[in-house]
Amino acid sequence: MDYQKMFSSLRKYNKEKICKICGGTDITRFAHTAKCLNCNVLVNFPYVEPREIDYLQGQISSSEYSDAQKISLSWHIESGANNHHNFTRMVCFCEDYISRDNEIETLDYGGGGGQFALVLNSLYPKSNCTIVDMIDIRLLEIYAPMNNQIKFADFENNTKKFDFIFMNDVFEHLTFPLETLELLRGKLKPNGKIFIDTPCTFWLYPITKFFSKRIHTKLLKGTVDSDHQQIWSTKSFYTICHKAGFSVMRFKRLSEYTQPPEFYLDNMGITNPILRLFGKTFFYLSPLISRNKIMAVIE
Ligand SMILES: [Zn+2]
Repeated sequence: MDYQKMFSSLRKYNKEKICKICGGTDITRFAHTAKCLNCNVLVNFPYVEPREIDYLQGQISSSEYSDAQKISLSWHIESGANNHHNFTRMVCFCEDYISRDNEIETLDYGGGGGQFALVLNSLYPKSNCTIVDMIDIRLLEIYAPMNNQIKFADFENNTKKFDFIFMNDVFEHLTFPLETLELLRGKLKPNGKIFIDTPCTFWLYPITKFFSKRIHTKLLKGTVDSDHQQIWSTKSFYTICHKAGFSVMRFKRLSEYTQPPEFYLDNMGITNPILRLFGKTFFYLSPLISRNKIMAVIE
């Protein structure tokens, strides 16, 4: 993928205020975000330069490697238990499409520390897990033996094909979701499928915008940034899948978090004890009252 060339189109979109998902021109801006009134996607705006370019080349020093390992490990210590449950639920969501009896090739795209392979192998002992991540050196040594790693820089030209590609909490990070889906489509075996789990907007966004611009700004600060570049809506999700030539086989909205509530409250910069208590109450009730995630299988 020629990221620089692709970014020139995003520069144009920035100038003309165009939705990068559906191409719609009716967008409203608020703080550092924009919402498309056609497909309802919520994006970090203006669109930022793709970080992928920085990771395509360059020698890694041993200190960079150990720093990356430390970051990855501390993330896993915080989120590993939640992720274990979440990953189990994700794999079970795909149960109808994966055979336990056959050897299958799977790809964990954007797999970070590599914990997913542990869960997948546990449920599907005949699965053969490959991992690729923009930051190769985040793959933790403890999970490395369960993952065949393809370096990010080599991925596009690698000829390996997969029965199932997993994108667990990755779709929101992509600078170019359409082009990435198209690239991954070329990596699938016949009848191959992609699983996606990604955050979506829900009632808390319009409600806070209506009642308190200050709290709405904090919510946006905690959920949309140059790393979490788009928070999907159902319509924008279907739009991008169809544009990339996929059909949505299975789709569900559910409640799912990777970190404890303090993490999100800190990210939002919420220090007021009453608001924090409200936030924690919301967090623990969220399985009953909110659907902040999309899970889907596409083909
Ligand atoms: Zn749109």
